[in-house]
Amino acid sequence: MSGDRVAVVGASAAGLAAAEALRRHGWQGELSLIGAEPHLPYDRPPLSKQFLSGAWESERTRLRSREQLASLGLDLRLDVAAVALDARAGLLTLSDGRELRCAGVIAATGLLSRPFPGAAGVTGVRSLRGLDDAMALRGMLRAPRQRVVVVVGNGVLGSEIAAVTRELGHEVALVGPAATPMQHSLGPCLGALLAQAHTAKGVVLHGGRRVTSLGTEGGAVRSVHLDDGTELPADLVLTATGSTPATAWLAGDDGLDLTDGLGCDTYCAAAPNLYGAGDVARWRHPVYGRELRVEHRMNATEQGAAAARNLLAGLRPRLGLKAAEFAPVPYFWSDQYDIKVQAYGLLATGGLRHTRVARGERLGAAALYGDEGLATGVAAANLPPRTVRALRAVIARPTPWDEAVAGFTTALD
Ligand SMILES: Cc1cc2nc3c(=O)[nH]c(=O)nc-3n(C[C@H](O)[C@H](O)[C@H](O)COP(=O)(O)OP(=O)(O)OC[C@H]3O[C@@H](n4cnc5c(N)ncnc54)[C@H](O)[C@@H]3O)c2cc1C
Repeated sequence: MSGDRVAVVGASAAGLAAAEALRRHGWQGELSLIGAEPHLPYDRPPLSKQFLSGAWESERTRLRSREQLASLGLDLRLDVAAVALDARAGLLTLSDGRELRCAGVIAATGLLSRPFPGAAGVTGVRSLRGLDDAMALRGMLRAPRQRVVVVVGNGVLGSEIAAVTRELGHEVALVGPAATPMQHSLGPCLGALLAQAHTAKGVVLHGGRRVTSLGTEGGAVRSVHLDDGTELPADLVLTATGSTPATAWLAGDDGLDLTDGLGCDTYCAAAPNLYGAGDVARWRHPVYGRELRVEHRMNATEQGAAAARNLLAGLRPRLGLKAAEFAPVPYFWSDQYDIKVQAYGLLATGGLRHTRVARGERLGAAALYGDEGLATGVAAANLPPRTVRALRAVIARPTPWDEAVAGFTTALD
């Protein structure tokens, strides 16, 4: 790579964190932040919560004000996508035909919703990834018309969408392969707690089921057919069936590993002076000793900053920065009704211990996760911050299972 420009591709959580860290650590050259969407950088988690419910307007999802962005001295290019990168030459090609010569590139292009099979050209089938999707959905869900909504996918996003849609007064069914909401990531105990909450609110759960086909009339969806023969009426189908890393723009460079996102080393480097960050980046976690690609908000910020620092350490040795391996304890949260789920570490459910905890009127739950004799993760629902902090401390690093069980029990006392 060559020149006096760093390009950050993807103007969202990870890209913004990278741009800010580059300036904070002393990068004074050109700094291009390139985003395919027309919007200023915004936050995605509120889209399936406060924004969809109508509690927030879109301005509130903005990550920074115009003034804050201006203070970074960015070459901010929105509504323009990167379409190709020659990493060795440092040549980045944009969708408007321009070419940027770069000394370094940070790839922070996130994910694209996976198209739902059989939904092409059918009206009334939607997914939620970005602000434009959320605005369109919000319009469709606005009262007074009550809709019959089928949410397909009972992972975190589908479960949140079902909760908000139900609270808006619509008739909601939640369908997905896991037996209970979020069970694939959280295990059966927290899944059961969420199932109880959804059922109590009137969401009809179809756990352990797959959609076989959509029924249409005049090009619009009318029903959803499940693999047990059930036919669910629907005038809106919201799919949350996973996403794929946005790496098409990197595909022309055969030196890169794009097996599942952009493959990076423990320093988040994919090639000399090319770093990955956020949902798109798969990197080798030095403590867990395995490759991870984390699709959570906190990781986007932390990895954006880490990638920027490591890039700069190599590009500008005189700044005295030392490259560091990226070794976070992953974190995510989810809000459904009045339940807050928080999870830390790796939730491989090989060894799983869980417990339900009464908290006055409400039921809480916590789970400890591990593999190969080591505890690596915890999750909690409806527990006070002090308890959650104590639980996190138990798995701040992989810990022998028995020792972690003792810490887990003490944290919940
Ligand atoms: C609806 C929703 C709710 C969520 N809720 C939670 C939650 O409660 N808790 C949690 O921990 N996480 C949550 N997440 C996940 C979290 O938002 C993501 O982990 C985070 O946004 C990842 O940030 P990112 O910058 O890596 O990618 P993204 O936010 O996906 O941003 C990538 C950006 O790159 C742009 N881009 C793509 N290709 C190109 C290209 N070729 N050229 C230029 N730009 C490009 C995209 O348009 C996009 O703006 C949620 C996600 C969604 C969608």
